[in-house]
Amino acid sequence: MDERELRRRLRYQDDVARGRPTKRPKTLRYRWCKAKITVRPPGRLPLYCSHSCRQRAHERKKWRQPHLLVQLNQDLANVAIRAAVREEAWALLRQMRLVMGPAPPENRRQSRPALRLVEADEGCAATGDQARDEV
Ligand SMILES: [Zn+2]
Repeated sequence: MDERELRRRLRYQDDVARGRPTKRPKTLRYRWCKAKITVRPPGRLPLYCSHSCRQRAHERKKWRQPHLLVQLNQDLANVAIRAAVREEAWALLRQMRLVMGPAPPENRRQSRPALRLVEADEGCAATGDQARDEV
């Protein structure tokens, strides 16, 4: 949404919220397709010109998220960082003579960082469907 359009919307919504007399915009433009949206009298101001425009916006938003491999890299880095922190903490405790011996194995029952890629399995199937729809 461009700056002017956004300000128009915000001013109107602010006026309504504060009970100030205001003129409801008759048309609005959506940044992406530049289509004029006719504003119907009741309800919220429309964001999209059509259902398909809303759907395209949803897809753009969805694909803007980091790629699955990027996510996996981040998750694996998190696991490595946790292990390093554990090791460092244990070394400090040993130095202070509060514990002895090597660090115990990680408690499997403790919450461990989730691997988003593994959890996103169902989402992947949906993604495949959408990719097919696009063609
Ligand atoms: Zn549109």
